[in-house]
Amino acid sequence: MQDIKDLFSVLDQNPNARILITTHHKPDGDALGSTLALWKFFKNMGYEVNLVSPTDWGEYLHWMPNQEHIINYELAIEKSKTLVAEADYVFCLDFNTLARINQLGDLIRSCKAKKIMIDHHQEPEGFDDYRYWTTQTTSTAQLIEEVILMWKGEDAIDADIATCLYTGIMTDTGSFRFDSVTPHTHRTVARLIDKGAKNSSIHQHIYDNFSFDRLKFIGYCLANKLEIIPELNTAIMSVTREELLRFKIQTGDTEGLVNYGLSIKGIEFSALFIDRTKLIKISFRGSGKFPCNEFSRDHFEGGGHFNAAGGQSTEGLEAAIARFKRTLPEYKKYLADI
Ligand code: 5GP
Ligand code: MN
Repeated sequence: MQDIKDLFSVLDQNPNARILITTHHKPDGDALGSTLALWKFFKNMGYEVNLVSPTDWGEYLHWMPNQEHIINYELAIEKSKTLVAEADYVFCLDFNTLARINQLGDLIRSCKAKKIMIDHHQEPEGFDDYRYWTTQTTSTAQLIEEVILMWKGEDAIDADIATCLYTGIMTDTGSFRFDSVTPHTHRTVARLIDKGAKNSSIHQHIYDNFSFDRLKFIGYCLANKLEIIPELNTAIMSVTREELLRFKIQTGDTEGLVNYGLSIKGIEFSALFIDRTKLIKISFRGSGKFPCNEFSRDHFEGGGHFNAAGGQSTEGLEAAIARFKRTLPEYKKYLADI
C-alpha cells in the first residue's frame, strides 16, 4: 500500500494513462461532487478519463456540472466492462469496500489497473494500491480538494471543480452543522467560493428543487409513519413499497427523511426502513451518543459513520422492524435518560 503522494510523479510521467473514476451505489452529493471534481481535474490536465457510476443518481443532483458525462453502469454494462478492463488507474471515491458498488466491484477487483481509494468511511477493506483515507474529515470532497492542492496547487481548481467540491462538503455536513466541521473546513469552503462556487445557488439546487409529490410524501410520512419509543429516545419511520409507488418516489427522494426523527427534542437515535425491491434499506442517524455504525454492522449487515450509518435486511419490512425493536433495549445505556 502506497501513499497517494507517490502516485503524483508516476502520473505526471504518464500523460497517456487511462483513468477511470467510480463511486458508490446510488451516489449522493459527496459521491457525485468528489468524482465530478476529480474527473474535471484530470480532464483539464489532458488525461483520458471516464466516470462510471454503479447506478443512477437522484434528480436533485442533475444540475451538477459535467454530470452528463457520467456513465451509468446499469445502462451501459458492456461499455463499462471495457473501460474497467482498459483502465491503467481506477480511482474509488467515497467508499472503501467493493461490495458497495455491486457487480462493478468484482470487475474492479480483478482488473489490471492500479486502484486508488480516497474515502472517509471506517474500516477499509484493503483492495487498494494507493490510498488517501481518514475518518477525521467532513467528506471525500474535502479530501479531493487536499489532493488537488498537494499535487497541482490552488490554480488547478476551476469553477466547476469548486462547485462540485462545495456540494460534496455541504451535503456530507448537513450544511456545515455536523461535529466534523472545523475551521479547516470553513477555510476550504471559503477558497471554493473564491474559486467560483456559488454557495446560495448550490444550496437552492440541492434543497429547494424537489417535486410536489415528494413534499406530500414527507407530510404523509410525518403525519402517519413516524413512531417514537420515548423510553429509548428513539424515532422510527418505515415506508412500504405501495407508498413508494403511490407517491411516485424516485431515486434521491427519500434522502433526508431519516433526519426528521432526530429533529425532535430529546431524540437521540432515528431509524428509517424502506421496502426496496428485494431488500429493506435502513438508514440510521444519531445525535452523538449512539454508535450507529456499530449497531448497523452488528445487526443489519451495514456500517458507516458514528452518527450516520446504513444497512439492509432481506427478512421483510415488519420482521426487520420487529427485530430492531427487540434489539434496541440492549443499547439502553446509550439512549435512555439516566
Ligand atoms: P444512508 O443512510 O444515507 O444511506 O447512509 C448513511 C451512511 O451509511 C453513509 O455514509 C453510507 O456510506 C453508510 N452506509 C449506508 N448503507 C450502507 C451499507 O449497506 N453498508 C455500509 N457499510 N455502509 C452503509
Ligand atoms: Mn461521503
